[in-house]
Amino acid sequence: MRLVASSYAPDTVERDHGWREYALCAETDPEIFYPADGMTAAPARAICMGCEVRAECLQYALGREKEGVWGGMSAGQRKAILAARTRHTTIPKEAS
Ligand code: SF4
Repeated sequence: MRLVASSYAPDTVERDHGWREYALCAETDPEIFYPADGMTAAPARAICMGCEVRAECLQYALGREKEGVWGGMSAGQRKAILAARTRHTTIPKEAS
């Protein structure tokens, strides 16, 4: 992965999406990564656990992809990660 130095916010840094070439899901049925209501995402997650670019995929999907399994995580799990990050990066107000 090639990272470009930037003084901009992290989400504006140009990123190399070459990791997609190694995506294990490209060799499988894409529909399992978008399970219908009532269907399990377990088969998709199992594939992700064996994918060598899972970390890159998850980082890419956080805040971008609102549906489906990316990086082994459901949309709800990714939303929870973002919420936790926000909680940990919020500067507490000064006690008065
Ligand atoms: S982690 Fe999962 S969704 Fe992401 S590229 Fe790999 S197989 Fe595909």
